[in-house]
Amino acid sequence: MRFTSTRGQSPTVSLSEAIRNGAAPDGGLYLPERQIVADPTALDPALSLPDFAARFLAPFFAGDELEPDLPAICTTAFDFPIEVKTLSDGRRVLELFHGPTGAFKDFGARFLMACLDRLGVSSKSGPARPLTVLAATSGDTGGAVGCAAEGCAAVRAVILYPKGRVSPFQEHQLTCWNAPVRAIEVDGDFDDCQRLAKAAFADPAMTKALNLTSANSISIGRLMPQMAYVAFAATRIFAETGHKPGFVIPTGNLGHGFAALYARAMGAPIGPLHLATNENRTLADWAATGLYEPRPSVATIANAMDVGAPSNFERLISLPVELREVTVELVTDDAIKARIIADQKTYLWCPHSAAAAEAYARLPQTMRDDQPWLIAATAHPYKFADVIEPLTGETIPAPRALAAILSRPSTKDSIGPSLAELEALLSIPA
Ligand SMILES: *Cc1c(COP(=O)(O)O)cnc(C)c1O
Repeated sequence: MRFTSTRGQSPTVSLSEAIRNGAAPDGGLYLPERQIVADPTALDPALSLPDFAARFLAPFFAGDELEPDLPAICTTAFDFPIEVKTLSDGRRVLELFHGPTGAFKDFGARFLMACLDRLGVSSKSGPARPLTVLAATSGDTGGAVGCAAEGCAAVRAVILYPKGRVSPFQEHQLTCWNAPVRAIEVDGDFDDCQRLAKAAFADPAMTKALNLTSANSISIGRLMPQMAYVAFAATRIFAETGHKPGFVIPTGNLGHGFAALYARAMGAPIGPLHLATNENRTLADWAATGLYEPRPSVATIANAMDVGAPSNFERLISLPVELREVTVELVTDDAIKARIIADQKTYLWCPHSAAAAEAYARLPQTMRDDQPWLIAATAHPYKFADVIEPLTGETIPAPRALAAILSRPSTKDSIGPSLAELEALLSIPA
């Protein structure tokens, strides 16, 4: 399989090159050259999650240098479960937060790092020198990437985050990883961190010296595992109930949303897709009017979805109209809070997952009755205890994985928001 850019102005590349490049040179996003159709025998509910993922994703890897490694990559990336919980009122929750950093981003980060760790030592796709993943982050991605990179031999991770603008838990989960991970606190805001990362990628000498690559959510290497677990959950529910389940998915950048659409286009037994957004209204307006008007992001309590210009929208509109049917529900902060409180005796939602639960509650009863539904829960509520505890009046105990993060020592470097300082720091081994 070869991969093309959504903007059509870049040469086609192999999967390895698409993973290594992150974005295409014309600024577009990589997608398979032809719509992939899953082998029906891959949709086997008896398979374990890693085996299912390896079979489901095989067409993406066909002919690529990573093809023989796909089963091992899936074993590394899917080494924790997804769980479907049926609540006392019958709702089904797809829990995606059982990974080491407590959010679904663990799947994407682990899969991408497992790929990059193999590409860093290979000669076909570039020099046989370690790759440096540079990530500017304010939230879940940096922690997941740091955790996934720990112990890697051929890829190191450099995480930039804004000083004093992340919660104490978030800072801890960015700064607690051992070599080859480096957390750098930047004296500035999140935009300064992003500007620094962009400046580093735009600097040919630095890109070459550090063998820079990115781990942001537009990477096809992060989307593929998300397609796999959505297909896996759907296949099991379909086998159990005889109906293709609908999914309610909280989304901001459309990473998750697009992955579900693509998995359905591949033939996974997925029914209607209902996307939940926060007050960033770009997707909801598009669904209502057909007009796509990106705008600056606004801050909400579901902050991992604070995106005003969802980058994966380019991928979505590249699908044929009949394959990209979705509905979108906008859920305000007040409605998220009300949902957390209304459900607290039944289930404790993180703010993102609460947006999905609220969007589900607003579906017409007939639609809810037509098929089983899975409400995606994307993060463990403990990660957002600062938002949830004042609403529920109850302390959230840390799950084992997150308690383990808190017991690790934390190390960081500090710089001002300048490329020269970043360069100087990175030229010194950690
Ligand atoms: C990143 C994130 C989302 C949104 O993911 P998309 O890629 O925008 O679909 C939702 N919930 C949580 C907890 C996240 O970390």
